[in-house]
Amino acid sequence: MTAPVIEFRGVALDYPGPPPVTALKPCDLEIRQGEYVTVVGPSGSGKSTFLNLAGLLDLPSRGRYLLDGIDTAELADGARTALRGRRIGFVFQSFHLLPHRSAAENVALAMLYAPAQGHLGAADRRARAEAALAEVGLAHRAGALPSRMSGGERQRVAIARALVNRPSLLLCDEPTGNLDSATAESVLALLETLHAGGLTIVLITHDQQVAARAGRTVLIRDGVLREVAAV
Ligand code: ADP
Repeated sequence: MTAPVIEFRGVALDYPGPPPVTALKPCDLEIRQGEYVTVVGPSGSGKSTFLNLAGLLDLPSRGRYLLDGIDTAELADGARTALRGRRIGFVFQSFHLLPHRSAAENVALAMLYAPAQGHLGAADRRARAEAALAEVGLAHRAGALPSRMSGGERQRVAIARALVNRPSLLLCDEPTGNLDSATAESVLALLETLHAGGLTIVLITHDQQVAARAGRTVLIRDGVLREVAAV
């Protein structure tokens, strides 16, 4: 068995309100290295809350979160930010690329926020960015601006950016939500290739068909997280 990447032990998140809301009820969850897990649930069920906690963007109100065995509650803010930069790659529905920077520049910028890569000079960052773009099939588009790219290409750039620091975990928030079905298919196929190469992926979606493609699915409903039995 591989080591856990995500370990939630009684993790919960309360918003004080008014009115107070428990957006995620206390839950235990273990996601191991190399797993591909989808998280599904209706709007307002707690998916973003889960993503923000798993991505170290929010702190649990209760419980403990271990990322790669590191108890994140023990960390000061700067150390938590550094851990996030090094270990987690994010992919969002709306890509979040800088419009006036080329694909390679968008990818290279991610290295500035990961201290382990911070010592790299500009030429090395550029070379790594180009290698990450090649990994997602976009070597030939390194100099292109996002505004000149299709939605599928933009999402591939975002995936390259998420991969460039060699994270332990790829967190994807509705990565195909802005794409037509053929493009969505190619992005999902890319994620599946990355998973086959050993990457740990957690993908949030409201689309049952997208969810069903992963080996394991977790359902959140009214802030309650539970495993979906394999069919
Ligand atoms: P989803 O991503 O599944 O749509 P969310 O995680 O965004 O759901 O929200 C879960 C619950 O927490 C909802 O009831 C939502 O209204 C509530 N919520 C989300 N963010 C806040 C906030 N900043 N303050 C108070 N309640 C919030």
